[in-house]
Amino acid sequence: SSWAQSCGSWELKERLGTGGFGNVTRWQNKDTEEQISIKQCRQELSERNKERWVLEIQIMKRLDHINVVAAREVPEGMQEMITTNDLPLLAMEYCQGGDLRKHLNLLENCCGMREGSVLILLRDISSALTYLHKKRIIHRDLKPENIVLQHGEKRLIHKIIDLGYAKELDQSSLCTSFVGTLQYLAPELIEREKYTVTVDYWSFGTLVFECITGFRPFLPTWQPIPWHNKLRTKQKDDIVVYEDLTGEVHFSKHLPQPNDLNSLLSERLERWLQLMLKWCPQERGKDPNATPSDCFSQLEVILQLKLVHVLNMISAKILTYSVSEEETVADLQLRIEKDSNIPATNQELLLEAGLALEPHGLATQCAVDYTVIGKDTNCYK
Ligand code: ATP
Ligand code: MG
Repeated sequence: SSWAQSCGSWELKERLGTGGFGNVTRWQNKDTEEQISIKQCRQELSERNKERWVLEIQIMKRLDHINVVAAREVPEGMQEMITTNDLPLLAMEYCQGGDLRKHLNLLENCCGMREGSVLILLRDISSALTYLHKKRIIHRDLKPENIVLQHGEKRLIHKIIDLGYAKELDQSSLCTSFVGTLQYLAPELIEREKYTVTVDYWSFGTLVFECITGFRPFLPTWQPIPWHNKLRTKQKDDIVVYEDLTGEVHFSKHLPQPNDLNSLLSERLERWLQLMLKWCPQERGKDPNATPSDCFSQLEVILQLKLVHVLNMISAKILTYSVSEEETVADLQLRIEKDSNIPATNQELLLEAGLALEPHGLATQCAVDYTVIGKDTNCYK
């Protein structure tokens, strides 16, 4: 290969990926052990794509968010050493966890990822998108290959990469150029219609659906034109379109089973996905009948729920409750009585470790706090 094996203290370690635009490689500094990723542009680019390339680097350098991959300085001499064209290299922090596609491909995730992992992903990616959109940047190519994982101090951190297609919004905030990868691409991009930040909602919704269930929501094996013709007939809140064994196409508004979500979360995220996967770009991400009406605020509410899971030892079923800050164990027992027909006086609530709960204590003491989940548990194996 024409690749130089080292540059000063930096040694080329491996190729991480090859895509439409370039090669990504991992380099390590033999003195400091620091690792970086270098993205190099392939030579045969059109003028337009060269501009895009330079734009990606400019955008990356201005961003500063934990869930967007950070740009680094290109080591001295490397530019001259490994490039044969006039295009700048992009140096980035190296994320050792691989991309999200790799995780989705693991056998254990074939029917969807663990609940805790889905929640961390929701938190990280919504936070990154909120940041980008506030800066008036649309990603436009959000998909599992463009999310990488890094081992943080206490949990895995998701980072968005590949802003090669990202576009800064001008004042009118509508763009008309066509880019992206079809399976996660919003319909208005395929139609080359005007579009705005809601294209990222569609991709995010598609991606979250896939993480929850293990498959993409809308006719994953279909070609673009029949796909588009069929999909446009879906109702607003349909979140799955699938073909059965006889070739008949079905539409559904519900999250398919099996998945690892508890019933309450499943119901909430189902409604959230109905917002994210609306065909109409103007309506997508908004629920005019709800407060808050915007999808990211709604997600925030979901991620802050205090959930208590109760295993009924008689029926061997798990009941899940969302509890408020003031709610007491006695209040919770009344709710359990309603659902299980076991009178509150006959109930004995035990914590996981076997400790009995006092009726006047707060119900939140047994809640799973989704705002800290993953901070002390590594949700990916
Ligand atoms: P483009 O979409 O612009 O044509 P691309 O898809 O080839 O380019 P990227 O998406 O930036 O380029 O990177 C390709 C692959 O390389 C990613 O899917 C990921 O697996 C790996 N990769 C990229 N950047 C990093 C990084 N900073 N740390 C770890 N792995 C990375
Ligand atoms: Mg990519």
